[in-house]
Amino acid sequence: MACEIKEKERVGVINPIFTCQPCGAQYASIGIKNCIGIVHGGQGCVMFVRLVFSQHFKESFEIASSSVHEDGAVFGALNRVEEAVDVLLMRYPDVKVVPIISTCSTEVIGDDIDGAVLKLNNGLLKEKYPGREVYLIPIHTPSFVGSMISGYDVALREFVSYFARKGEPSDKINFITGWANPGDVTELKHILTEMDIEANVLFEIENFDAPLMPSGNTVAHGDTTVEVLRDTANAKGTVALNRFEGGQAAAFLEREFGVPAVIGPSPIGVRNTDTLLKRLSDMTGKPIPESLVRDRGIALDAISDLTHMFLADKRVAIYANPDLAIGLAQFCMDLEMLPVLLLLGDDNVGYATDPRVLELKEHAWFDMEIVTNADLWVLEDRLKNKGLELDLILGHSKGRFVSIDYGVPMVRVGFPVYDRAGAYRYPVVGYGGATALAESMANALFTDMEYKKCKEWVLNVW
Ligand code: SF4
Repeated sequence: MACEIKEKERVGVINPIFTCQPCGAQYASIGIKNCIGIVHGGQGCVMFVRLVFSQHFKESFEIASSSVHEDGAVFGALNRVEEAVDVLLMRYPDVKVVPIISTCSTEVIGDDIDGAVLKLNNGLLKEKYPGREVYLIPIHTPSFVGSMISGYDVALREFVSYFARKGEPSDKINFITGWANPGDVTELKHILTEMDIEANVLFEIENFDAPLMPSGNTVAHGDTTVEVLRDTANAKGTVALNRFEGGQAAAFLEREFGVPAVIGPSPIGVRNTDTLLKRLSDMTGKPIPESLVRDRGIALDAISDLTHMFLADKRVAIYANPDLAIGLAQFCMDLEMLPVLLLLGDDNVGYATDPRVLELKEHAWFDMEIVTNADLWVLEDRLKNKGLELDLILGHSKGRFVSIDYGVPMVRVGFPVYDRAGAYRYPVVGYGGATALAESMANALFTDMEYKKCKEWVLNVW
């Protein structure tokens, strides 16, 4: 039995797992209150991303484009950034935070968005909007490196480094959820509340599960304020749940302001959630309350009802954001499932040496393949050409055709999920997430038995 960590052998990507860097910067932006980003590039860099967000959250939100055309691609298009900022500020009197998010085309033509911001700060803002609180933040997200994951990480670092200011020490901690769903944020806030921990929950998108109210609100918005971002420099510590989605911001605060950073664990499964609670307790001195011990007990009860008989030895393929994918693999192994294929889908060379990945390799008691820079063709190829047998796929909706074509049941996790109702509402983190995940996996297997007219339980009866 061996676990192999390797890079995809092919050049080129067939059916990518992630989209590009600007998407990640846009995801970070929607977590900030009174913020509308301007994506400096072709209109599609916004339109496509906005569509995927709306499909996932079933909400509408606002983001702008400088809408670069042929002439801009040849001669430069900074004039369009300047115009876009002006139009945005005129149209939205409440907007304060305007990230200028670059794209592949505008990075290639070399548009100096930092220079444009300087010019706007000294010109337009002073002349036309004197006294108005406006923050223009250049964010460089060329799409020919990294993916939406690194774009999100870079954007968080840029926002935090732009706003953080040393002031009076605070009793709060910074809490960076990473690329989470509203249901995850609710679950994480539940943990913080139960532990009586005051936190700056950063880039918080809980409101993207927005109620329809009599007042007729039509757009969702994030809730992290400028004040909260400023205060990050004064916190007693930072907990970034995901190494690749917020790790840089936490490291910046430690380096620049001496705010101790704890990176991880992504609290997927009981073991990782236990570790998170311990780290929160160590950082704040707050004890772990009985209520969370009870939540843990409920998760353990649900899991023990399922693991041995139904989940153990089931062969699973996983693709998702890297921290999520690794956490899911850890959880599967805790449940005695066999994550035989783990796909980490962009060119980040840090995945292969991530301690959690090395730990998976060390502890796998079955043949396991971990593929970096992977795409969905790797999954299809293993099923179609390499004889891979699977009982379950864990991943987002972009891989659903593999599930359909090869008859492998699939549990939707991660982003984007648009072919399961309300998926964004259910957590994968914390004890609640562990329960929901284990039950979803078991239910997917049970339903699959029905589809395949399998009348006998597929049980482990050793
Ligand atoms: S790859 Fe380039 S052109 Fe396409 S959406 Fe991303 S930034 Fe825009």
